[in-house]
Amino acid sequence: MTLAIAAATPPPLTNNHNNSLIHLLNNNSTGIITMSHLKQIHAQTLRTIDTTNHPQALFLYSRILHYYSSLADLNYATRLFHHFGKPNSFMWNTLIRAYARSANHKHQAIELYKAMMLMMEEEVVPDHYTFPFVLKACAHTFSLCEGKQVHAQLLKLGYESDTRICNSLIHFYATCGCLDMALKIFQNMSEKSEVSWNVMVDSYVRAGEFDTALKVFGEMLKLHDPDGYTMQSVISACAGLGALSLGMWAHAYVMKKCDKNVAADVLVNTCLVDMYCKCGSLEIAQQVFERMPYRDVNSWNSIILGFSMHGKAEAALDYFFRMVKIEKFVPNSITFVGVLSACNHRGMVNEGLMYFDMMTKEYNVEPRLEHYGCLVDLFARAGRIQEALNLVSEMPIKPDAVIWRSLLDACCKQDASVELGEEMAKQVFEIEGSVCSGAYVLLSKLYASASRWNEVGLLRKLMSDKGVTKKPGCSLIEIDGVAHEFFAGDTTHPKSEDIYKFLNEIDEKLESMGYLPDYSGAHLVDETIDGKKSTLRLHSERLAIAFGLLNSRPGMPIRVFKNLRVCSDCHKVTKLISSIYNVEIIVRDRARFHHFKDGTCSCMDYW
Ligand code: ZN
Ligand code: ZN
Repeated sequence: MTLAIAAATPPPLTNNHNNSLIHLLNNNSTGIITMSHLKQIHAQTLRTIDTTNHPQALFLYSRILHYYSSLADLNYATRLFHHFGKPNSFMWNTLIRAYARSANHKHQAIELYKAMMLMMEEEVVPDHYTFPFVLKACAHTFSLCEGKQVHAQLLKLGYESDTRICNSLIHFYATCGCLDMALKIFQNMSEKSEVSWNVMVDSYVRAGEFDTALKVFGEMLKLHDPDGYTMQSVISACAGLGALSLGMWAHAYVMKKCDKNVAADVLVNTCLVDMYCKCGSLEIAQQVFERMPYRDVNSWNSIILGFSMHGKAEAALDYFFRMVKIEKFVPNSITFVGVLSACNHRGMVNEGLMYFDMMTKEYNVEPRLEHYGCLVDLFARAGRIQEALNLVSEMPIKPDAVIWRSLLDACCKQDASVELGEEMAKQVFEIEGSVCSGAYVLLSKLYASASRWNEVGLLRKLMSDKGVTKKPGCSLIEIDGVAHEFFAGDTTHPKSEDIYKFLNEIDEKLESMGYLPDYSGAHLVDETIDGKKSTLRLHSERLAIAFGLLNSRPGMPIRVFKNLRVCSDCHKVTKLISSIYNVEIIVRDRARFHHFKDGTCSCMDYW
């Protein structure tokens, strides 16, 4: 038996006072003890038992320390802890756990663990209670080095087959980016619990390895029924993949196979709302949201961000109004990212400024880089570059490469001076180094639009000298649950011949409507193959859309996911296709969603 367990067993009682105190402290499962009760009990204990080394005192003080910790009064708990010459393992564990759970003092848990290690000769030994807490603190503070030492120590003490500790190790390694190590521990576990599987699935989702997460989930299903945690991870993986039919399957699984508490769970439902938004199905997202038995701030954030991402600013702002004015939720930092980006996607500068003001003054939310980024982008894309620059120079946080890139992008779109654009590109290179392609592409567009072909050539040479590679454009489309991937000019798909034949047919129809290709957005850009302009028509989303038109059921919208921004020519063509073939086409690009219908796009050509 460990010391921690021993300390939790009361020694024989000698007087009635202590008897009732212990009874009270042991039976607080309903949480009736408040801080003022606790202080009274503490005072009473000090009066009745004066020596801290008395075995009964040790038990009572351990319980009092436990309650101070669970009431999150870490100062008081720490003072009480230090009051003891020799705190027992239970006390060490209690305090380590309290710090590991605290919001801002997780490092302290690691320091306490180190101090505990120095007490090993005094028979204070870390045990199966200690390790999960300290590993949690290591994970949350990304303390890889310390965590590895904890790992070595627990191996020395023979805890390598403790399931709970292994789960903590998996979580710790995965959080610190060592997924291989996490997997190794998982595979070597003699006994995996449901939690072990959940942690492993979740680790893959957090690392963005959605496919693998779903594979591990498939293995898990053979042994365990998934719970709410599992389903949250699985639904998030579907969202990450943009896999609507898989996401719908997960939704059906939650409704039919899971416990009814899982189906009503606020976190699971919030994940569903987020998934449907990210998979391009706003209607179902809305249905799930409206049917939720309970909602929290995150649920509101999901629906606001979802509508915002789809360029439906009015609906996003209506939800915000309902959230704060009718249902009286207090918005947080993420809510305002949703609200500001909704304004941004529609170029609503005045509204954006109004909400920024509301955020800081009415709700005391400290603006973060994302909020400033939205505002800078909002000014820049509305052509108010000088105001954007003023904001950048006034903001108290150092702008990141994203902000500079959005300014450079705006310079390109609005034919701003080349010198200004060069300055922006310089800032991007300073932050990201000069091997990232994005800023080169934008800069070359700017040179091209000013007909400075000499610079375009020099830039191209510089890129090849430095080994800068452009990210290939790639579009995904899911038909009957199977994902099909297309690159620009791709001929590897088994149905390639049909696709290209159909593209010719589309071209003829476009021509008869008087369409002329728009090369402005494609010069030297990502998908131009061998510099040939004719390849605009072979951009990855065009292949995916053509394949979708050939294979989707009539009346069903075509959903395409693209890793880069849609170019202006593809945007124009997709609008026309939506009207020629009377089909709704939903494209998720790097920045947002576009809903093409009847020859128009939901972004109103502002993207
Ligand atoms: Zn294109
Ligand atoms: Zn659009």
